[in-house]
Formats: sequence, structure tokens, C-alpha cells
Amino acid sequence: MVKIGIITCENRSLLCAGQNCLGSVSRHSGTFARYTDEIELVGFTTCGGCPGNLAPKKAESMIKYSGAEKIHLSCCVYRTMPNPSGSMEEIEAKLAQSPWTQLNQDDYVVELAKSLKSGQLPHVCPFKDRMKKNIEMLGVEVVERTHEHLNEIERKK
Ligand code: SF4
Ligand code: SF4
Repeated sequence: MVKIGIITCENRSLLCAGQNCLGSVSRHSGTFARYTDEIELVGFTTCGGCPGNLAPKKAESMIKYSGAEKIHLSCCVYRTMPNPSGSMEEIEAKLAQSPWTQLNQDDYVVELAKSLKSGQLPHVCPFKDRMKKNIEMLGVEVVERTHEHLNEIERKK
């Protein structure tokens, strides 16, 4: 038995109920194919919104109270075009207040500012590496991505 938790993009969660993530857990497909043991899903939650300050806290809760051994960051953290939750100023303030490690904070701010200015939203979460690192600091493995992609699911039908 392996206990896993999944953290998804809060922005994306407004449009998605997590069906592909949850289906992949059941099928042991996508990044869950690596587990030969039975999977117990001990948590399925969002990052809490940009800049993902709540992700490590939620991971900590899954580890402490439910024994999570692996935390998966969902595909939408890596593949979606998230609509940043909040203005540039609000996100900068949240970054500054975060109790979690600030990794190249300027890079995130610059990347996000460029996106907002150009009207082109980032193709991946600008805070993904920060979230991953801060969760890893809790002593748990973080796996990038979750499900197989739709064309793979179709091929199996
Ligand atoms: S990875 Fe896909 S299925 Fe999972 S929460 Fe994100 S959008 Fe939904
Ligand atoms: S873009 Fe990143 S930090 Fe913002 S809600 Fe999505 S996963 Fe969380």
C-alpha cells in the first residue's frame, strides 16, 4: 500500500472536478503506473491559489495526519494556462508574507508581470518549482504530473 496526496492548480479547479487525475489513480496509469502496490489516496486538494503558499501546508497536513508518502503535483500545474488569482500587487504581497522558502522570487515576479502585461497568460504555473521545493523540504518525494493524456486514454478504449 502506498499513500499518496495530489495537489492541483486552484485556478484550474474552477473548471475541473479532477476526473482524469482520479481515473488515473484507479487505473494505475499516468504517473501512478510506477506503483505496483495498491494506492491509497489520502488527499486531493488545490494549491490554494497564486502563489501557491498553501500547498506546503496542505502537503504537511496530508503527511502528518494521513501518512502521505508521495505528493503529486497535477498535470494542470504543468500544462494549463492558469489565470493568476489576484493582481500583481496581491501576489507580490503574498510572496513576501509566505513562511516558505523564497526561491528566486524575483524570477517568479518578473515572469508573471511579463505575462500580465502582454495579456498572455503563462503556459505553466510560474510558482511550480517553488511549491515543489517547499514540499520536498518536508521530507517527502514530490512527483511531477498525474494523469495520462486524453489521446492515450482514447487509444486504450
Ligand atoms: S490535472 Fe487535469 S484532471 Fe487533474 S485537476 Fe488538473 S485539469 Fe483536472
Ligand atoms: S498558477 Fe500555480 S500557484 Fe497559481 S493557482 Fe495554479 S498552481 Fe496554484
